[in-house]
Amino acid sequence: MKVYLDNGATTMVAKEVLEEMLPYFTEKYGNASSLHKFGQEAKKALENSRKAIAKKINALPEEIIFTSGGTESINLAIKGIAYANQERGNHIITSKIEHPAVLKTCRELENNRFKVTYLNVDKEGLVKLDELKKAITSKTILVTIMHANNEIGTIQQIEEIGKICKEKNIFFHTDAVQSFSKVQIDVKKMNINLASFSSHKIHGPKGVGALYIKKGVKIKKQKYGGHQEFGLNAGTENIAGIVGFAKAATLMTEKDIKRMEKLRDNFINAVEKSIKDVKLNGSRKQRLCNNISFSFKFIEGESLLTHLDFEGIAVSTGSACASGSLEPSHVLLAIGLKHEIAHGTIRFTISKYTAEKEIEYTVAKLKKIVEKLRGISPLR
Ligand SMILES: *Cc1c(COP(=O)(O)O)cnc(C)c1O
Repeated sequence: MKVYLDNGATTMVAKEVLEEMLPYFTEKYGNASSLHKFGQEAKKALENSRKAIAKKINALPEEIIFTSGGTESINLAIKGIAYANQERGNHIITSKIEHPAVLKTCRELENNRFKVTYLNVDKEGLVKLDELKKAITSKTILVTIMHANNEIGTIQQIEEIGKICKEKNIFFHTDAVQSFSKVQIDVKKMNINLASFSSHKIHGPKGVGALYIKKGVKIKKQKYGGHQEFGLNAGTENIAGIVGFAKAATLMTEKDIKRMEKLRDNFINAVEKSIKDVKLNGSRKQRLCNNISFSFKFIEGESLLTHLDFEGIAVSTGSACASGSLEPSHVLLAIGLKHEIAHGTIRFTISKYTAEKEIEYTVAKLKKIVEKLRGISPLR
């Protein structure tokens, strides 16, 4: 049996998405900037896709620009705001559990005379709103807090954070790569000024993403060339990818989400019932419908991953982005896990295509492997 439970890392391109994309490689291959019919056909596909993404988050089409993925959107949002508002201030606030795309962009800005506050989170991974309020100074220009965490699935109180930023007249960016299509996003209601999205986490193709920029918010472009994407992201658009991304954004239904939540909770209950000395990471309530993160005491996550892989089950450890390094994940340390517990962490991320019997198979194998590894564990 082959069971893919690493949908937090990337997802399968949905059949409907691939079908929608195919003509744009062969028949409709025009450049959206060209004036002839081929170009206009591509341009139309581009603008229809823009409308579809905008609609999904209650934005206007002209507030969406397409990018090469979550990382590019995040870089453009953070650096774009920072360099466009240098006279106003040089202070940025983020959290300790952000994706490296955010953390490393902030580090780079620190090398360029910006100051960054990295907020602590509580045991469940939630940013403390009073700490956020206290961190704000007259120099603060941007708050960037992720919507949902990729490792532990915690969903932040985005609307409350948006409200605080609005009151203080500070720009608010959210990395919504993991939440997009799984959690309702309304940029107006949530007072979001900028939001980053990625296609390959929602059954779209890799190498495509979007950045929402509220009308009137000025950012400094980070790339020079053509006038594409309202002059903010130079380079010929990846039309096939963009069309696929827009299609993918329409596929998730409320029913799919409910079903995933049920599968997730069944998975959590089964593990807690059948395996001793496990700890669920993140929040039980404020949690992504597809995320299950467990720390298994007395075990190395890497060996657990390898044994699961041998049985056809694909998962990730608590340090997906730092694999190869012995440092445990910054997220797990930020929620207060000790090093040795953090090392025994496995993330399972399901998708709307995950079957119940795949979960049953995984829990059964997991139980056996954990017993076996604990039997020979020097950590015990
Ligand atoms: C995957 C991911 C990103 C990066 O997106 P890419 O499209 O792979 O560049 C950023 N933030 C979060 C939370 C992610 O899960």
